[in-house]
Amino acid sequence: MASKHVGHAIGIDLGTKYSCVAVWDDKNGGAKIIHNEQGNRTTPSCVAFTDSHRLVGDAAKNQAPFNPKNTIFDAKRLIGRKLSDSIIQADLNLWPFKVVAGVNDKPMISVEYKGEEKLLAAEEISSMILTKMKEIAEAFLESPVKNAVITVPAYFNDSQRKATQDAGAIAGLNIMKIINEPTAAALAYGLQKRGNCSEERNVFVFDLGGGTFDVSLVTIKDDVYEVKATAGDTHLGGEDFDNRMIDFFVKDFNKKNKVDISENPRSLRRLRTACERAKMNLSFVKETTIEVDSLFQGIDFCSLMTRSKFEELNKDLFVKCMDTVEKCLADAKVDKNSVHDVVLVGGSSRIPKLQNLVQEFFLGKDLCKSINPDEAVAYGAAVQAALLAENLSIAPDLVLLDVTPLSLGISIKGDIMCVLIPRNSMIPTKHEKLFGTFEDNQSAAKIAVYEGERTRASDNNLLGLFCLSDLNPSPRRHPIKVCFDLDENGVLKVYAEESKTGKKKEITIVNEKGRLTAQEIKRMIQEAEMYKDDDDKFKEKVEAKIALEEYVYKMSAFMEDAKVSSKIKSSQKKNIEAAIGEGRELLDGNQQKVETADFENCLHKLRSIFDPIIV
Ligand code: ADP
Ligand code: MG
Repeated sequence: MASKHVGHAIGIDLGTKYSCVAVWDDKNGGAKIIHNEQGNRTTPSCVAFTDSHRLVGDAAKNQAPFNPKNTIFDAKRLIGRKLSDSIIQADLNLWPFKVVAGVNDKPMISVEYKGEEKLLAAEEISSMILTKMKEIAEAFLESPVKNAVITVPAYFNDSQRKATQDAGAIAGLNIMKIINEPTAAALAYGLQKRGNCSEERNVFVFDLGGGTFDVSLVTIKDDVYEVKATAGDTHLGGEDFDNRMIDFFVKDFNKKNKVDISENPRSLRRLRTACERAKMNLSFVKETTIEVDSLFQGIDFCSLMTRSKFEELNKDLFVKCMDTVEKCLADAKVDKNSVHDVVLVGGSSRIPKLQNLVQEFFLGKDLCKSINPDEAVAYGAAVQAALLAENLSIAPDLVLLDVTPLSLGISIKGDIMCVLIPRNSMIPTKHEKLFGTFEDNQSAAKIAVYEGERTRASDNNLLGLFCLSDLNPSPRRHPIKVCFDLDENGVLKVYAEESKTGKKKEITIVNEKGRLTAQEIKRMIQEAEMYKDDDDKFKEKVEAKIALEEYVYKMSAFMEDAKVSSKIKSSQKKNIEAAIGEGRELLDGNQQKVETADFENCLHKLRSIFDPIIV
């Protein structure tokens, strides 16, 4: 069990598109979703860089059309992957920002910040979003927050989980636990809808978001939540449906106008926004029109999209979703007849066709749509955070048992995958196995650790390679014990030991997947402080400017009010007008050249002239 933590503990759903933060509320015996400063309960997972400052969340998303190259989204698609990963390669064409290869083929996002190029890892972008969510919670709780539970797609692999932990560390958070998104949703469902169930219930969670798809079968009995199986796709979601529509219209536009807009990022971006809006509308209406003024070379774009056309464009993707549902049930060894509740979460689960398919699959069962699909994951994360936190008197008393999504093993002779921990094993777990050396007097044993379901080891995902060296000279089949230790976050440690001598070695997966080193994380924490410093300075400057603006406004209003201004001497009037002029000049001038102190000094001067007059 994880140790108890002191202080507030929050739950963060770090989504591809939107993030959401919640905290346990003792008074109401439930989690509370915290709204951001714009009053929104979810915050865009978006970070932007300009020549003067950095923006995170709504502010970043709002300026995206004017600054596409420096507005970063989709960091969750990049995290824990290599640049050469085919999934990343396919996405590269669609992103308006630049991604280049770093050390070990690690994808690095290139942005221009304050006129200089900066290379950022996906972990850093994610850490900025986490920091934002932390600040949203701190504003609400009126106290600092250190502890958090972060959710990841159940189907995230070892490197993606570790990279998410790193992002938390850079954000200065103490990550109490990483939990799976559908599991969090099941927790939210169990607590909000079911109360205490003494009968065992099989709950199927269908979570389709912006970029990822996750399903889980969870059984709930009394206070025990046990994940029986999980399945998913870390690259299937709303954005793929948008892409299908975009492709369709690009071709259509080409046919009608004989021009290709696919090379123009700005046109594509505008078409993308319009397509996503149309897709969302189609969840409520049967047809919708898409209009983009002057989409390309002055040509306006206007077209109709029907719900049935949209469904046809995405038919195979919808079928793929249902295959995953089937796989999960098979793994859980639960018949669809025995599923009591089907819970839909994630923005894309609002698509009517998908709802029909899911309902049909579960033989007409009513789907539970009453928990908020955008908030359920953060809600569950906050419940888990409360469970791990110390300061709560009436935290819910639950037990959560989760599983690992992918089989873990090592490569043995003939490139065969020898599984030590089968997929859907309950975590935490530990497995060991004895292996023999291949040759007589073998001096070292190479151990390659893989995750995945394919028989041939090299078809799976290589997590790391290590070598147990200086073995005692012995005949072949000299025993070596390999031990896999999977912690409650689904993060793996591997040890190998020469049985006879007890010589031990622990694997370091750092380089294989381009995981950040402790040093890099330290540097990134320092840089995060620098960004925060810049942000604070920027905020101070804005505040100083607003204070001056308000004061100048007050002075002008005074002068315009003949009744009051007529009472003062003309020399004073002259002074005031000159001061107003000076203030305006500063406010309207080149803001790059003005410092916070300039605004403050000016305000000070104006006050010394005007304050004595109005007293
Ligand atoms: P994530 O967890 O990946 O950030 P969300 O669960 O917030 O994603 O879902 C975002 C996705 O849901 C986006 O692709 C968005 O277009 C899609 N979405 C939101 N509302 C609707 C709707 N009414 N119909 C179809 N898709 C929707
Ligand atoms: Mg989500």
